[in-house]
Amino acid sequence: MNPPPLNDKSLFKQQSYVNGKWVDAKSGKTFSVDNPGNGQTLGTMPEMNAEDTQLAIDAAAAALPSFRRTTGRERARMLRKWYQLMMDNADDLAKLITWENGKPLGDAKGEVTYAANFFEWFSEEAPRSYGDTIPAGVPGNRVFTVKEPVGVTGLITPWNFPAAMITRKMGPALAAGCTVVAKSPGETPFTAAAIAELAHRAGIPPGVINIVTALENTAEVGNALTSSNAVKKVSFTGSTRVGKLLMKQSADTLKKLSFELGGNAPFIVFDDADLDLAVNGAIASKFRGSGQTCVCANRLYVQSGIYDDFAKAFTEKVKAFKVGAGDQEGVTHGPLIHERAVEKVKAHVEDAVKQGGKVLAGGQALPDLGSNYFQPTVIRDMKNDMQLAHEETFGPVAGLFPFSSEADVVAMANDTEVGLAGYFFSKDIQRCYRVAESLEVGMVGINTGLVSDAAAPFGGVKHSGFGREGSKYGIEEYQIIKTVTLGGM
Ligand code: NAD
Repeated sequence: MNPPPLNDKSLFKQQSYVNGKWVDAKSGKTFSVDNPGNGQTLGTMPEMNAEDTQLAIDAAAAALPSFRRTTGRERARMLRKWYQLMMDNADDLAKLITWENGKPLGDAKGEVTYAANFFEWFSEEAPRSYGDTIPAGVPGNRVFTVKEPVGVTGLITPWNFPAAMITRKMGPALAAGCTVVAKSPGETPFTAAAIAELAHRAGIPPGVINIVTALENTAEVGNALTSSNAVKKVSFTGSTRVGKLLMKQSADTLKKLSFELGGNAPFIVFDDADLDLAVNGAIASKFRGSGQTCVCANRLYVQSGIYDDFAKAFTEKVKAFKVGAGDQEGVTHGPLIHERAVEKVKAHVEDAVKQGGKVLAGGQALPDLGSNYFQPTVIRDMKNDMQLAHEETFGPVAGLFPFSSEADVVAMANDTEVGLAGYFFSKDIQRCYRVAESLEVGMVGINTGLVSDAAAPFGGVKHSGFGREGSKYGIEEYQIIKTVTLGGM
């Protein structure tokens, strides 16, 4: 075992967290977790099943009656303390992220701050969740609404942001007064466990948050959550395929759902764009997390007048990247999560090249570094019938598609089943409004490649899912509105 070198070693837990206690699977089974940067085993986690999940649901259900009665201000204080503990332990949390996910330490530190922000943000929302006083339609009646927690929630998150995907759900769930059973990602369970340890230290009562771990039994755990009548809501971040499966599974128990699913973001550079701004925006949007973010640019459409200049400046920057294990000095881009991800990237590159795409940078795997590495790649002369145009690559490949008119590029950008984020660069204010209104996505970045912010609603349209995380809307996903009518006045 090669656990990360933490300052506080007690943050490295190799157990699940249920009802305020660190526990093993009833079966005693475990699965091992490897560092994608070097293939070494970091540690093991309990391989939980439906029975273990049921115990976690029971704990969350038992904790609900008293937790939902706490005031918003009490919950705010807990969340604020949890936020502070995350910031105080940011270095250790970042090391855990880097060791289990592979991203460079600087990016991991950025993720910790982003993740903690959800606790801070929702600590501020918790006491300010107002209902309405409604002018009654019937004489003598008085009508008002109250917001109540939806109840026990099931949260399922992916490995690409081992901290932020979980806090983005737990923050609003707790702010609303819900209790939680979270299934942490099989690839990156240690960051989630450390966050649970910090919840313990923040005084969050036993049973309010529970973390179930599984790798092979993932589908069984998912089924236990979706089929339970005690679980009133499931929030999922992950692929569109699994989102559709969970939606079907949740039909019989008619759950409240929110789904943050896959993307295939268009990134459009018009002739009138600021070239440097567009290049830097594309670098940030496309290559953050080595292209493994759901909002990352997948299709870069560049107008003919600026195409060659953009391709040159962008390629120069990509060639300057240093790829390697995330904990190594000077590394700008880490490995992919596993070999399957490398295979998908390879397939997209081979398909593009076969159909006439020209590789300007990269294009190959990096077996000398390890089995999970792929060169940051730029390909020009992309065409719309290539695989990369229609599927999320989820890797470090930037395909440059030429276009000539605004109408053409908007049509191409929208020609996909998904709609999470979309970006464009232009100095024309009318065009900015026009294109922002035309893109079929949940989030638009104009002259920026980054759109994530705890204060701003995050979510998609079409097959990218529904529901919004972060912002003033995030808490509503964990609430029901109860209408109270008083008659006989
Ligand atoms: P995935 O759907 O395979 O897995 C996501 C999570 O779901 C993991 O924790 C996994 O263990 C779990 N899971 C898988 N099958 C399950 C089942 N049958 N029942 C219950 N849980 C199950 O996705 P992935 O490949 O690990 O992650 C990448 C995908 O996530 C990409 O498509 C990406 O766009 C998407 N993503 C979306 C957002 C967003 O906010 N929209 C954010 C990050 C990632």
